[in-house]
Amino acid sequence: MMPMDWDTLKAACLACEKCDLCKTRTQVVFGTGSPTAEVLFVGEGPGQKEDEQGLPFVGRSGQLLDVYLETIKLSRQKNIFIANIVKCRPPGNRDPLPEEREACLPWLREQFSLIRPKIIVCLGRIAAQVIIKPDYAIMKEHGTWVEKNGVWMTATLHPAALLRNPKQKPLAFEDYVAIREKIHEVCAHTY
Ligand code: SF4
Repeated sequence: MMPMDWDTLKAACLACEKCDLCKTRTQVVFGTGSPTAEVLFVGEGPGQKEDEQGLPFVGRSGQLLDVYLETIKLSRQKNIFIANIVKCRPPGNRDPLPEEREACLPWLREQFSLIRPKIIVCLGRIAAQVIIKPDYAIMKEHGTWVEKNGVWMTATLHPAALLRNPKQKPLAFEDYVAIREKIHEVCAHTY
């Protein structure tokens, strides 16, 4: 993919037909937030509400995500960007297929190279396995940090998983506290 500016990238992504998910989507969910954010959150893919509204994390799990974000003074309106591994909704909320991930990843890579975040937070197992390592064990490894080429990466439990297992909420809270500490350590203008 050729280097491009943010608006060109967004327009091209919104018209993408590189995999079969384009046939069943309502709209592409490009992502939301500040293109100059130092912190990039990455989820798995849009669900029904996200597909309808064209925005990531707008359903119940998105509301829960916003609660955690607010706790550590982050906001999708201000100082982070939120994107997904696949930008169109897999039918019936199934996991995205490997070929769909492969087709879609160049969009995320392009977003990454324009945003140039200092921190990437993977939301859930699928994002962590694509971005951090293929055998990432989310329950065991969430909240740990790795550094790759000057970018700090971590993962936390997916907010949808927390809605299913509310007992795990304190574990996620600890991850967000650690994210706040890492922001203080490596970011210049997030806070
Ligand atoms: S999922 Fe990604 S690659 Fe597939 S059509 Fe949507 S934007 Fe294009």
